Amino acid sequence: TKWSALQKEAMSTLTSQFTVSTTKLQQLTEAFVQHMNEGLTAQKGACKDLAMIPTYVTGRPDGHERGSYLALDLGGTNLRVCLITLKGDHALESHQRAFKVSDHLQEAHVSELMDFIAASIKDFITSEHISSKIVEHPSDSETLELGFTFSFPVTQTAIDAGVLLRWTKGFCCPGAVGNDVVQLLQEALNRNGVNVHVAALVNDTVGTLLAHSYTHPNTFVGAIFGTGTNGAYVETTRNIPSISSPAKEMLVNIEWGNFDKDKEFLPLTIHDNKLDKESINPGVHVFEKMISGMYLGEIARNVLLNLIGQRILFGGVSSEILNKHYALETKFMSDIEKDTSSTLTATATILEQELNIRNSTVADREIVKTVCQLVGNRAARLSAMATAAVIRQGLSNGIQEKHRHLLRVGATVVSAVDEKDVINVGIDGSVFEHYPYFEGRMTEGLEELLGPNARHIIKLGIARDGSGVGAALAALIATKNN
Ligand code: ADP
Repeated sequence: TKWSALQKEAMSTLTSQFTVSTTKLQQLTEAFVQHMNEGLTAQKGACKDLAMIPTYVTGRPDGHERGSYLALDLGGTNLRVCLITLKGDHALESHQRAFKVSDHLQEAHVSELMDFIAASIKDFITSEHISSKIVEHPSDSETLELGFTFSFPVTQTAIDAGVLLRWTKGFCCPGAVGNDVVQLLQEALNRNGVNVHVAALVNDTVGTLLAHSYTHPNTFVGAIFGTGTNGAYVETTRNIPSISSPAKEMLVNIEWGNFDKDKEFLPLTIHDNKLDKESINPGVHVFEKMISGMYLGEIARNVLLNLIGQRILFGGVSSEILNKHYALETKFMSDIEKDTSSTLTATATILEQELNIRNSTVADREIVKTVCQLVGNRAARLSAMATAAVIRQGLSNGIQEKHRHLLRVGATVVSAVDEKDVINVGIDGSVFEHYPYFEGRMTEGLEELLGPNARHIIKLGIARDGSGVGAALAALIATKNN
């Protein structure tokens, strides 16, 4: 590297700001586990940073389940209806159709929105192509069971009941806030003569865990590293004081994006604080803002602007585009990290074409790439920390107890692990799937926190269709238990 003395100094400062040491990761893990337990035992309404929401899903599939189930996914402008046919033996077939939710419907009375959803479901299941795929009605009636992934804030009171707290993402249909969204949908289905029963209301992390479970036994964690980040895991019911259920285990939605909202432990930099202050929700989800796809590019952009301001980068000249909030997409960081050419030609192209930064020098581009590496590596290590903390909870809550002696720093190294002893982690999201080295960096972090066997025992895997397959499985679990 042909960096000047000033550039070297600035980069070494950034490196120490963005590097999360093993000791720091350990401290964060301990705090995370403690906050999980505080969230579990908190009185209703007490505002803990980890909400630890019980999901009323009291079992996990093992891959032998059979039957046809519907899944419905409403999370934005697309409504997705799926028919999932579970064939046992970890195999399944999935058919789906997307319907566009018009601008009008996003503001119409909720009964109009629900009528539209009911009509879409009816359209889907009565089409010749789909109706021939429905192999069996698991409940021996003509009613199809449906799992509903509803990606808006709800407080759930049963597996098939949840009250909408507020609309987000541009929706503002009157008549919904404060009401049970399952009931609203069921009434619309009944009104429209659609023989479908809404059996389960599902959060996307829970769906991810269940979907992964069908193909990977002993899936213990479901996680999202996409636009946002969150995780769900399996807790013993006796550790959830607010739940009285004869079931042994229940899935819990951690809402980990809000970890350490009081900023006691997180290694925040001035660049993170700037991002937070200028965001639409200052002080909220600061952990998510260090990790997820919506924000990584913006952290990197803040760092680059700071270096430009010091006249250390691009000769002190920015561009109109780079000066705009969120102009540097996380995807660009992926492409820059992938650039291994000696003069970083792909990076030069991104700077020029996407950000209108022309005439960058090789030294400039090496700075840009290093910034991406620092921000990307920190995100992966913090993701590993959250995952390790959840697994630590599993080691002590009894569910993963048998791994206690193997998953600790200084444990005896085992050479091979039996397939049935693996702890599976199902992960969805573009950051995990597409950001280069993200998985490897996570695995490194897991090893630092859980010892040398972590690599063999903990298997991170991509779980794609949480809101389809996962929701269908939640419907199955709900009907089996009732
Ligand atoms: P969602 O979480 O909204 O369901 P995704 O899992 O696709 O959807 O995540 C979208 C996020 O991933 C966006 O914030 C985007 O910036 C980021 N992203 C998209 N493509 C890539 C990529 N190739 N590398 C890293 N991040 C990406």
